Amino acid sequence: MRKPVIVGNWKMNLGPKEAKNLLTEVKALDLDNSVEYGFCVPSIDLLVAKEVLEGTNINYGAENMYFEESGAFTGEISPAMLTEVKATYVIIGHSERRQYFKEDNELINKKVISALEHGLTPILCVGETLEEREANKEEEVVKEEVVKGFEGIKEADKVIIAYEPIWAIGTGKTASAEDADSMCAYIRKLIEELYGKESAEKIRIQYGGSMKPSNVKELLAKENIDGGLIGGASLKASDFEQLVNFKK
Ligand code: PEP
Repeated sequence: MRKPVIVGNWKMNLGPKEAKNLLTEVKALDLDNSVEYGFCVPSIDLLVAKEVLEGTNINYGAENMYFEESGAFTGEISPAMLTEVKATYVIIGHSERRQYFKEDNELINKKVISALEHGLTPILCVGETLEEREANKEEEVVKEEVVKGFEGIKEADKVIIAYEPIWAIGTGKTASAEDADSMCAYIRKLIEELYGKESAEKIRIQYGGSMKPSNVKELLAKENIDGGLIGGASLKASDFEQLVNFKK
């Protein structure tokens, strides 16, 4: 039985003061502990997250990292810095990083390997653009992202995969629960081909793309969707509460 995992991605929103307010509000909520949950926050908020959340069931992590240990990489943060602040997750290869910062599968793979070596849980994002879907290329694109993203990785199920159709991110358009489930099933099949049935049954695959209180139940009722990576709806405590408490 895979434990559902709901993770917020704040993107470039909320500075330390707002972060402290929101996390303090979330900490006071009655959240379902049969679900794993947390927030990936801008790096500048990580210390605030540690201060507010350390010792609670609310995990936290980063939205990106570089794969090197330390050195002359101006503007980057390292996996060792993330473990120092007791981060759990790190999002790797979000479509916004692929699109605006030109991250490719090779770089993303190095980041996934490095995150695992440091005991972090990478949330590897994959997904197709609208043009790719309209050209029926969604499986081809996602296959390349999964196969290249997992190159050289031994323990696949230590990674969380987020299937995020790019046309559904931040647009208010959600993939239908059937389409989202069938892509998550396809990804699970790829993992089975690469790592065998046991890993495929264990690995958690989130859906991301305008997931919100009104559609969470339908999406998470699907067999292959094990949680959500949530942008907009993770910026409000009451929305996040309804997402985590989707079983209630
Ligand atoms: C995301 O940031 O990964 C995301 C899915 O955003 P939103 O929920 O706003 O579509």
